[in-house]
Amino acid sequence: MKILVINSGSSSIKFQLFQMPEENVIAKGLVEKIGEESSLFTQKSVKGDLELRKQIQDHEEGINFIIGMLTDSRHGVISSVKEISGIGHRVVHGGEEFSDSVLLMDEVVEKIQAYADLAPLHNPPNIMGIRACKKFLPHAAQVAVFDTAFHHSIPPKAYLYGLPYEIYEKYKIRKYGFHGTSHRYVARRAGSVLNLPRESLNVITCHLGNGCSIAAVEKGRSVDTSMGFTPLEGLVMGTRCGDIDPAVLFYLGEKGYSVNDLNNLLNKKSGLLGISGVSNDMRNLLAEKEKGNGRAALAIDIFCYRIRKYIGAYMAVLGNTRGIVFTGGIGENNSFIRKECLCGMESLGIEIADDRNKRAVKGMEAQISKDTSGIKVLVVPTNEELSIAQDTYELAHGVKVSDHADER
Ligand code: ADP
Repeated sequence: MKILVINSGSSSIKFQLFQMPEENVIAKGLVEKIGEESSLFTQKSVKGDLELRKQIQDHEEGINFIIGMLTDSRHGVISSVKEISGIGHRVVHGGEEFSDSVLLMDEVVEKIQAYADLAPLHNPPNIMGIRACKKFLPHAAQVAVFDTAFHHSIPPKAYLYGLPYEIYEKYKIRKYGFHGTSHRYVARRAGSVLNLPRESLNVITCHLGNGCSIAAVEKGRSVDTSMGFTPLEGLVMGTRCGDIDPAVLFYLGEKGYSVNDLNNLLNKKSGLLGISGVSNDMRNLLAEKEKGNGRAALAIDIFCYRIRKYIGAYMAVLGNTRGIVFTGGIGENNSFIRKECLCGMESLGIEIADDRNKRAVKGMEAQISKDTSGIKVLVVPTNEELSIAQDTYELAHGVKVSDHADER
């Protein structure tokens, strides 16, 4: 059985076709620059790598093109769309409603539409992808897998802000958390690697990519996370500032910054890019630091320091932390950053093994703590697409492939 995973962004659609339940990737690719003069389609499969330029006006055309290429007589990997039995869509915001992945009945699509107010950049393109798939693949089961769902278990004391309660009631302003599919996947992998049953699966998961977030996972369920009402809260990220005193906004407003200016400043011009003045890309910053660039070094220091603070806070939240997991482009690849985040914490039960840390490279699961370390530290490559494919397969066929299905 084949499951197609779709991740529709504002101007791109990423896809992966899985053979399930074997979990083999048959093809994967991307349509970029949708709506521009020349869109780019790339695909990797057993038939080789493919790159095509063509104008693709919108998401409907993009999905149609992807399906056309998957079934193409020369480059395709399946003979008919009928082979695709389920489609899993990444959906960013499920609001307070969705605690798990769901079949995309019409009323679910309407609710996702309603949550577009909370995620104006993300939910609308997600819906365009869903509608296009419903049109071109009406026979396939469609499933929504929400970035917010894993954090549904966060209790009110952690998700409410210190604002008047009416503001929460009226506008639903609260912490939702994001990157949930990634936190869920790596937490479960950590449970397998460390042989921890669900009732002892107390881990802190650090997703460090362009966007960064940390989650406190107690007994396999998220109980707190660093991103909040939007993905702006929490850690210092590539271009986002993370936590700041909200009064800074009033002050800048009085200096003439508009709401749009502030949105742009905090989301696009801050973080590693804003502090360093050089780049939002950690690889560039590490190279600049090597060359003696003080601002690049400062940006890296601030980045790691914020992570340390959150790890300390979440150790207090959990009480009995069994593991810390690094994932995402930075977390999976960089031993220096991992060490900076955790060094000097031996008295808290964290002992990093330098040789293991240095040996842990992209694509490998690895334990980077010493055997004597009370809290185990792991590197786990994230795989959100596989998680989405598993949920879709389970819901489309009523079978269980992951231990996650136990919770349904
Ligand atoms: P996204 O959040 O867009 O999915 P990724 O998870 O791919 O992004 O992470 C991108 C980040 O990972 C970038 O800051 C990039 O510099 C960083 N990165 C990738 N490889 C390395 C490396 N070897 N060392 C340090 N940072 C790296």
